Amino acid sequence: MKALCWHGKKDVRCETVADPRIEEPRDAIVKVTSCAICGSDLHLFDGFMPGMREGDILGHEFMGEVVEVGPGNKKLEVGDRVVVPFTICCGECDQCRRGNWSVCERSNRNKSLAEKVFGHTTAGLFGYTHLTGGYPGGQAEYVRVPYADVAPVKVPAGLTDEQVLFLGDILPTGWQAAVQCEIEPTDTVAVWGAGPVGQFAVRSALMLGARQVVAIDRLPDRLSMAAACGALTINFEEESVLERLAELTGGKGPEKCIDAVGLEAHVPRSLDSLYDRAKQALMWESDRAHVLREMIYACRPAGILSIPGVYGGVVDKIPFGAVMNKGLTIRTGQTHVNRWAEDLLRRIEEEQIDPSFVVTHTVALEDGPQMYETFRDKHDGCIKVVLKPGV
Ligand code: NAD
Ligand code: ZN
Ligand code: ZN
Repeated sequence: MKALCWHGKKDVRCETVADPRIEEPRDAIVKVTSCAICGSDLHLFDGFMPGMREGDILGHEFMGEVVEVGPGNKKLEVGDRVVVPFTICCGECDQCRRGNWSVCERSNRNKSLAEKVFGHTTAGLFGYTHLTGGYPGGQAEYVRVPYADVAPVKVPAGLTDEQVLFLGDILPTGWQAAVQCEIEPTDTVAVWGAGPVGQFAVRSALMLGARQVVAIDRLPDRLSMAAACGALTINFEEESVLERLAELTGGKGPEKCIDAVGLEAHVPRSLDSLYDRAKQALMWESDRAHVLREMIYACRPAGILSIPGVYGGVVDKIPFGAVMNKGLTIRTGQTHVNRWAEDLLRRIEEEQIDPSFVVTHTVALEDGPQMYETFRDKHDGCIKVVLKPGV
């Protein structure tokens, strides 16, 4: 079969590899009809994430048709149409039973590596680093889905792939980011990053009743997409984020702040005001966590920082004194997709939300390597890429 494989920094290739086969009784094989490139894939593409190996098959956002089912799988049948969450879950461990799906204690087949780096194991993820199991991903014609009787979500035929594909990751990720903000009707929610995750976080915060939602980015087409649903916008290259947020909140700052950027944070040319002074005082060496620091300074005391943005290794020089003294709450993590997927599927069916609006590019799987660059460089108005294997 054909698959997109990782060969090092900025080197993704479409290659012919062995077809996957059933390895465990609860497995299923899914023939992929649509898959997508995620901001998390860009961390691999940029070489920010440790634990990748040459030839790893990429991709954790995918859906398709079940073509083979292991003898121990009582949930799926050949012919089922499924969206596969990016988190692999056993369904039986203590964390799975509590609904903490993304920290399943059993699905990571490289537990000892995860324990060394994170202190504990976390769930296995498709198409990601070997710290999370190194499972072959879904930017491919076929995928083996381990524990396929737990996470896959069956989807009805009446909805298009583009309407349901994002149930496996970015829609629940934006939703969880907003839910964990515990939004009150008087709240201002500021969302850093108007990429696909930011777009869903903005819409989720509005659906959950925030008074105002502010989207922060530097790319006009992404800001316009956020404005189209009623968000206010800040272009961080044109104005000071901290000053504008203060202005919009009577000088107090937003109660809730969402980091939908993570590792690849772009640092504005001129850092100013409080942030600039603090930067000098602390002599920050790395600016990868720029958004995290800006959020900490922007957030109103007693507020909540919700961080779906992915961080890989060690993030340095976080002004934790500000977090502590302002009494901020931090909520973060890989998304517990299965906590939200059924409810969000219902909302799609009831036309409360149609996630397909984020898709700007639909191409064949073979064009994937080029699309990694286009999406990474934000060229050609690219916001979300959907790949179609086998066309
Ligand atoms: P993306 O790269 O398309 O979007 C990131 C956006 O952030 C871009 O539009 C970029 O211009 C903007 N940005 C960069 N620097 C900024 C700054 N200083 N201030 C404000 N905005 C800035 O990525 P995406 O697909 O939307 O994903 C966003 C993040 O969410 C990534 O870190 C990704 O890994 C993470 N993610 C997490 C989960 C999870 O389970 N927690 C799931 C999916 C994605
Ligand atoms: Zn993703
Ligand atoms: Zn589990």
